[in-house]
Amino acid sequence: KQAEFNARDENAELEKRVAQRTAELQAISTTLEQERNLMRTLVDAVPDSIFIKDINSKFLLANDAVARGMGTTPENLIGRDDFDFFPQEMAQNFFEDEQTVVRTGEGLVNREEKAVNKETGNMRWFLTTKLPVRNDKGETVALVGIGRDITLRRRAERALRESEARFRSLIELSSDWYWEQDAELQFIEFEDPNNKSSYQRDEVLGKDLKVLPGTELLSESWIEYDDLVAERSPFRDLELRRVAGNGNTYFISLTGLPVFDENGKFRGYRGIGRDITERKRSEEHIHYLATHDSLTSLPNRFMFSQILNLAIESSHRYHRKLAVLFIDLDRFKNINDTLGHEAGDFLLREMAMRLKQCLRASDVVGRFGGDEFVILLPEIENTEQIATVAKKILAATINPIDINGQECRVTASIGISLYPEDGIGEQTLMKNADIAMYRAKEEGKNNYQFYSPNIEARSLERLVLENNLRMALERNEFFLHYQAKRNLQTGKIAGVEALVRWQHPELGIISPAQFIPLAEETGLIVLIGRWVLKTACAQNVAWLQQGLPPLCMAVNLSVRQFFDENLINDVADALSESGMQPQLLEMEITEGMVMQDAERAIRILTAIKALGVRLAIDDFGVGYSSLAQIKRFPIDTLKVDSSFIRDIPQNPQDRAITEAIIAMGRTLSLTVIAEGVETQEQEEFLRDHACDQSQGYYFSKPISPEDFVSFMKAQAASTSVYPLAANKK
Ligand code: C2E
Ligand code: MG
Ligand code: MG
Repeated sequence: KQAEFNARDENAELEKRVAQRTAELQAISTTLEQERNLMRTLVDAVPDSIFIKDINSKFLLANDAVARGMGTTPENLIGRDDFDFFPQEMAQNFFEDEQTVVRTGEGLVNREEKAVNKETGNMRWFLTTKLPVRNDKGETVALVGIGRDITLRRRAERALRESEARFRSLIELSSDWYWEQDAELQFIEFEDPNNKSSYQRDEVLGKDLKVLPGTELLSESWIEYDDLVAERSPFRDLELRRVAGNGNTYFISLTGLPVFDENGKFRGYRGIGRDITERKRSEEHIHYLATHDSLTSLPNRFMFSQILNLAIESSHRYHRKLAVLFIDLDRFKNINDTLGHEAGDFLLREMAMRLKQCLRASDVVGRFGGDEFVILLPEIENTEQIATVAKKILAATINPIDINGQECRVTASIGISLYPEDGIGEQTLMKNADIAMYRAKEEGKNNYQFYSPNIEARSLERLVLENNLRMALERNEFFLHYQAKRNLQTGKIAGVEALVRWQHPELGIISPAQFIPLAEETGLIVLIGRWVLKTACAQNVAWLQQGLPPLCMAVNLSVRQFFDENLINDVADALSESGMQPQLLEMEITEGMVMQDAERAIRILTAIKALGVRLAIDDFGVGYSSLAQIKRFPIDTLKVDSSFIRDIPQNPQDRAITEAIIAMGRTLSLTVIAEGVETQEQEEFLRDHACDQSQGYYFSKPISPEDFVSFMKAQAASTSVYPLAANKK
């Protein structure tokens, strides 16, 4: 019984223990279940891929991230392997890695691996770790894997690497250098792979731009730069000059952009630097060329006027005087023509040097081209001082100069103008010095003249003309017009005067009154006159051949031509070459020409007459000669100057003089011609007083040879009775 009791007790005890145990197990199982759920939740919540595989690489467990990446669900993965999801070769690699882990029991940590989805072709990068799971005996029973998707990171890294590489190659390829400054504007980075900057890296780092060694700003002040930097704006092409340790000068241009961090806080500047030495040099060279005369290296007109302007400003400020000297070498053209251009250049260079030697350092010599030099004396107390300089220059110029073994003596003419007396502007001062220089030429050269308002001004046009005149003959720019003369008895054409014109390419037709005096001065008149003579004679014969009646052709002679030793030959040639009858040619000279050197004039006039050519005195009445004097010369015709004719209607005195000239001319058996007849009234007066011929716009203006033919024909056809005014008083 006891035993029965005991057994029952034991049973109850056993049952109790079983129940207890069951409860315990149940609790454990619940706990385990809970833990598993917790695990699962945790594992699924992690963004990284987590999986467990058996030793044959088949999935025992995979979290959401793994499934998502493989395009399936976690449940669906269990029991399957990578070969179902990845391309063969890739799956094989994974498999082999895992088998290595199983075999060796050693994990693979942080490997970057690429995974391509077999179906979608989608590629991603992972950072994977695979570790063995061991049992208590230390045997590998499974493996656990963790993978982090690093596709984005890798992409960002690659982009960064690429942009870095791009930046490097840019820097390396370019001739620029790269720099960075911190917020205190001190250089913290300086990269100059091609050594283009003339700076050493450690000369720059840690320094402010303004204290870089040997460096200064090209423009006057830093204000502009400071302003830009203060407002954190970009700056462009900041130009600096740098004298490097080796003494060489470099020019640099800096361009910078401000840098801000993500919070918008200013971090400094970064930008590039560029060596612009070559550009600056060529700019300087161009500037030099543009401002200096290449032959003598003296300042040219442009530069000189700038200097003069500045000098005028400061003279104005300090109430000082200054002087401008215009220097023209006398007869330079002669040397150029006879000894050649090289000799001319040599002479000009020598003169430039001598001029400089006559002056103080503060004085300025310039060359305006040709043989024109100009000097600025910026500080003048009195005119004696200028005179001293001028004398010095004349003396220096006249010193013999050896050109090609030939001793030449050159003289100069100097014109002087003073600030402020002779002008307060640069233009006026130059112009007036120029005018004074011409005065010096007129005074016989080799002297200096101060400007005075009385000096007859010669315009700039005149200078232009002078240069062009030389070319005009070669370029065939001269042509002749012809003005008819009327016989006042018959009303018919009595003859014609050849008048030269100049067709200037830019200025148009220039009248002889403008260029003859110049041609006279330069001697070109001899050539021009010869051409006129030949052309007029040839024209005369051509008209005859065209069937016009014989016409007396008057041709003007100038002083220089008149005294030219070839004159007689020239006239004879013109006649013989054209075949013109000598009696039809009349040479017009002026009183002045014959009065100067009467003996010589008579010889020349006689020789012309001997050719059978007629002679006329042009512009008679203005040259103060008397008819009694004229008598001595073998003259045929007297042309009364137009100034008397012009005022005939108003001025009784002019009428009287004209009357007297006509009367006295007739007593000397001269043909009297009135010039500049413009009205019927004038012509009637002249006819009434028995003047032989009239010439003037009233009858005909000077016209072209073609027009002259028409004019002649119209005249011949005209039936009108002459005199025109039938019922005149
Ligand atoms: P000139 O020999 O006394 O010629 C007359 C000038 O008066 C011409 O001027 C003519 O166009 C102008 N004239 C004629 N009729 C009238 C008129 O009714 N009213 C006005 N207001 N003027 C009139 P042009 O052609 O300008 O010649 C000016 C001067 O130039 C000439 O004066 C002459 O001394 C000189 N010249 C012209 N051709 C030659 C030339 O071939 N050789 C030289 N050495 N001198 C010439
Ligand atoms: Mg004339
Ligand atoms: Mg005249």
